[in-house]
Amino acid sequence: MTDCIFCDIVAGQSPASFVHRDAIVSAFLDIRPVTPGHLLVIPNEHVVSIRDVPATCANQMFDVARRLAQVLSESSIVRADGVNLFVADGEAAGQDVFHAHIHVIPRFPGDQFVIGAGAWEHPAPTREELDDFADGLRRQSSD
Ligand code: 5GP
Ligand code: ZN
Repeated sequence: MTDCIFCDIVAGQSPASFVHRDAIVSAFLDIRPVTPGHLLVIPNEHVVSIRDVPATCANQMFDVARRLAQVLSESSIVRADGVNLFVADGEAAGQDVFHAHIHVIPRFPGDQFVIGAGAWEHPAPTREELDDFADGLRRQSSD
């Protein structure tokens, strides 16, 4: 056992209901699903932040997540009307388990799952403000 529950799951030292396993990533049902079929896609190697996941692994995580979203939409077991892919990166973003993961959450009309986004009700910034912001981010991302 380690001090990371997802590492224990990958190592077979804690139980999980897997829907996918390969050499790089694993996917299993969330133990406290937001809606039935809620899945987690994780790197097999311990990495705390999605920002530190190696690119090959991040690509595989996203590819598996989108393929599982397709399964949740098409399978007669879930038949999701929509799917949210969601990442909480860092405590302030709501990350509780500090082993990177993508939530794959089936959505249904009236399922009551809400991502609190009251900020979107604030007045929208001007195009000039948006362009200035984008310029700053572009400059810093090419540093
Ligand atoms: P976070 O808040 O870090 O984005 O999400 C962590 C998720 O991991 C939660 O949805 C929680 O229900 C799930 N979780 C926590 N412990 C376990 C566990 O032992 N097994 C499984 N399958 N899911 C877990
Ligand atoms: Zn871990």
